[in-house]
Amino acid sequence: MCDCGKKHIFLASPHMSEEKYEQAYVKEAFDTNWIAPLGENVNRFEKEMSEKLGAKAATALTTGTAAIHIGLKTLGVGKDDIVFCQSLTFSASANPIIYQNAIPVFIDSDEDTWNMSPDALERAFEKYPNVKAVIVVHLYGLSADMDRIIDICNKHNVPIIEDSAESLGTTYKGKYTGTFGHLGIISFNGNKIITTSGGGMLLFNGENAEAEAKKARFWATQSREPARHYQHSEIGYNYRMSNIVAGIGRGQLKVLDNRVEKKRYIYNYYEEHIGSLDGIELMPMHEWSKSNCWLTAITLSDKVTPERLMNALEQANIESRPIWKPMHMQPVFAGCDYIDNGRVAQKIFENGVCLPSDTKMTDEDLVRVCKEIRKLWL
Ligand SMILES: *Cc1c(COP(=O)(O)O)cnc(C)c1O
Repeated sequence: MCDCGKKHIFLASPHMSEEKYEQAYVKEAFDTNWIAPLGENVNRFEKEMSEKLGAKAATALTTGTAAIHIGLKTLGVGKDDIVFCQSLTFSASANPIIYQNAIPVFIDSDEDTWNMSPDALERAFEKYPNVKAVIVVHLYGLSADMDRIIDICNKHNVPIIEDSAESLGTTYKGKYTGTFGHLGIISFNGNKIITTSGGGMLLFNGENAEAEAKKARFWATQSREPARHYQHSEIGYNYRMSNIVAGIGRGQLKVLDNRVEKKRYIYNYYEEHIGSLDGIELMPMHEWSKSNCWLTAITLSDKVTPERLMNALEQANIESRPIWKPMHMQPVFAGCDYIDNGRVAQKIFENGVCLPSDTKMTDEDLVRVCKEIRKLWL
């Protein structure tokens, strides 16, 4: 925060519905004392989300990270199994591979989508014929090139986990992201397009969706078997979403479409007002996908560096953020293999900036952000 006296503009902040739907569902949970452990909100939230997206089943969990973890377990990923994972992403996409004692191999991106490069993926399969799962990310709400990725994975008979943590509401060829892979995951963390204060969901799209969702619920509630005494034959986790949190989620789901609309408006505003500046390029859009525009990200070339732009915005009390640092460049994954496609992920990281994309922003706020940016081009 700065002391310039100007209103702080957030990158992305929680935005509860004007109608207070969230509070109504939470109040219902209080009134019926369905505070914990489970209850109607959890069941309904799973059902409402599956119906909205067109997933076959869903399991509500404490975080998106937990959803990836349970997703890997669902696919039988264990010790020393190889998992391909997009390099340009947030660390939560990759950490659960390590939780399972499996081995991540990171895959570079395409300039065209910013997401997993199908060419690099093909080369990865040549090098590693035995792969247990592929984690594809839809970064910043941009859809990956799913047709080609699915083709390649089908050829090798390897299931996909779609990390749709940032892309809830994005469609690819008319269908929601998160419903293409054998599994998909969503996050309801505080900065995501809708939030439950913290939460996640695992989506099931395969033939045994219902059975897999049930098994996921079992693992997520300490693998407790249906016996009066506490009986366990498997290691479990305490990952289940609470009924209070699910109430917030149900309310938020009602305004998802409004949030997507506003995010797209913000993207279009930036495109119109700073998109033509020399050396600015907005993240790529395609006619085959409708992005939720979770964050409007840009890349810079020429005279204005990301550092300079972020500093200028900070001086004006405006939040911005670099692009995720690719996983193959992270010290914690230093020993892992990486399949390169011409350093695309690295270049996007080094030249990129995420602009404030808060759905509470007014036109005045957008004018202010664009004015600060345009000043750097004077
Ligand atoms: C936020 C995020 C996650 C993790 O979700 P949490 O709910 O915060 O655990 C995973 N992958 C990506 C790409 C994310 O942005």
